[in-house]
Parts: sequence; C-alpha cells; structure tokens
Amino acid sequence: MITLQNIEKRFGDAVILKDISLSLPEGTVTALVGPSGGGKSTLLRCVNLLEQPYSGAVQIGNDRIDFRPGEKPRWRDIQKIRQQTGMVFQNFQLFPHRTAIENVMEGLIVVQKWSRQKARDRALELLTKVGMDHKADAWPSNLSGGQQQRVAIARALAPSPQVLLCDEPTSALDPELAAEVVDVLARLARDGTTMVMATHDLRLASQIAGRVVFLEAGSVVETGSPAEIFRSPTNGRTKRFVSSIN
Ligand code: ATP
Ligand code: MG
Repeated sequence: MITLQNIEKRFGDAVILKDISLSLPEGTVTALVGPSGGGKSTLLRCVNLLEQPYSGAVQIGNDRIDFRPGEKPRWRDIQKIRQQTGMVFQNFQLFPHRTAIENVMEGLIVVQKWSRQKARDRALELLTKVGMDHKADAWPSNLSGGQQQRVAIARALAPSPQVLLCDEPTSALDPELAAEVVDVLARLARDGTTMVMATHDLRLASQIAGRVVFLEAGSVVETGSPAEIFRSPTNGRTKRFVSSIN
C-alpha cells in the first residue's frame, strides 16, 4: 500500500498541493487527470520525493516519512522511499550513450551492485516483457519514440519497485506509437503492477486505470472509476473539464 497523507507542497510562498490524501492499494492503477498546472507532475514527484512536501506523510510499505515545516528528513529515509519507486517520463530520458539493454542494466549495476551477468539476464527478461528484446543492442537514437518509451519502462521496472510512476507516458508520441506503449502498460496493469500515471490521454486512463483522481489547482476535486469521472462526473468543475476534451 502507498499512502499519501495530508500532503502540502509549496514552491516559495505558493501552495501547489493542498491537503492531498490518497491510498493506493497494491496492484491498482490510478490516473491523475486535470487541467495543466493542476499539480499532477508535482504530486508524482512527491511520491518518489524528487520534490519534498512541506508537510504531510508519504508511506510505501513499512517505510514512512513525516514532513514537518522547517525539519529536514534524513537522506537515508528519502533514499529508502525513492528506491521503491520507478519513474517513466514524457520524453523517455534514456542515456543516449548506452544501448537499450545497457540502459536497463545501469541502475542494477551502479545502485544495486549486481554483477553484469545477473543484470544482463534481468534486463533481457524485462526487455522481453515490453517487446523490445529484439532491439537489446540498439542505440536510443535508432529507436522510435514508442520503442524508447518501452525501454524506459523496462528500466524503471528493473529494481522491482513497489510502484511505477508515469508522467504523461504517451504525450510525446504519435497515436500509433502511443498505442504500443498503452498496450505495454495495460499488460503490466493486468499482471498486477501498481501504477500512478499523470495523463491527458483519457483513452489511456479509461483503458488502464481502476481509479481516476481529478486534480485542479493543487486539490483533489473528485475521484472515481473512469466511467464515473468521464461519463457522469458529479462535480461541476470535473464536468466542464471532461466536456472540454471530448
Ligand atoms: P501539466 O498538465 O501541464 O503537466 P501539471 O498538472 O503536471 O501540469 P505541475 O507541473 O505539477 O502541473 O505544476 C503545478 C504548479 O506548480 C504550476 O503552477 C507550476 O507552475 C508550479 N511549479 C511546478 N514546478 C515548480 C517549480 N520547480 N518551482 C515553482 N513552481 C513550480
Ligand atoms: Mg505535468
């Protein structure tokens, strides 16, 4: 279980996330949707602590950090939480000077201190899972965007994180290439991977997520199943947002 409790995030004096509490049970997929600037990316970055909340608590499994204004958490505690997360970005962010398989192996060797052989075996298993084993030795620059994103997903999964965080995983892709990535994410969801994804792609959210969280101006406005949020939202703001993109 991943729990966010009363998260507040500030940048300077600006309050960017306001009192966000969410529970993400194991094996569930949650989509964060809402207007630009609503705080979706910031919320994802508060789960892996690339951004530190001003106040509130983040818990993954038995590891928990309580943030209090003016108190600096211990680096070791931050690392513990972060190592249980994997992140996928809109623009893939593969290491350009490493082949596909080396991208997946890198963290296992450098962070987890695995042997090259063990890391290679694991990386190949993951590349197979995302349908990229045939391109294991290709350079990122020779891969399509969809292929790069699938390698990035394999890399994020390499250390067996508790949760896969995806920030607009299909936004940089043509529809056809986005569909490849959606297929991979759908398969991972079926296999029980816990995921949180920020997305503008309502098709992606409807297809994969069990729960949709509508975030606006740093607050959770409404949560529900994709059918509830996209077909019969109860909140006026959610209604306007959904009708604006349909
Ligand atoms: P989008 O749909 O465009 O990706 P988003 O929902 O992901 O938007 P965020 O990127 O989380 O929104 O931004 C939320 C708010 O926080 C915005 O007002 C943004 O300007 C502000 N913000 C984000 N990062 C920083 C930062 N490093 N410093 C100051 N303000 C920031
Ligand atoms: Mg964003």
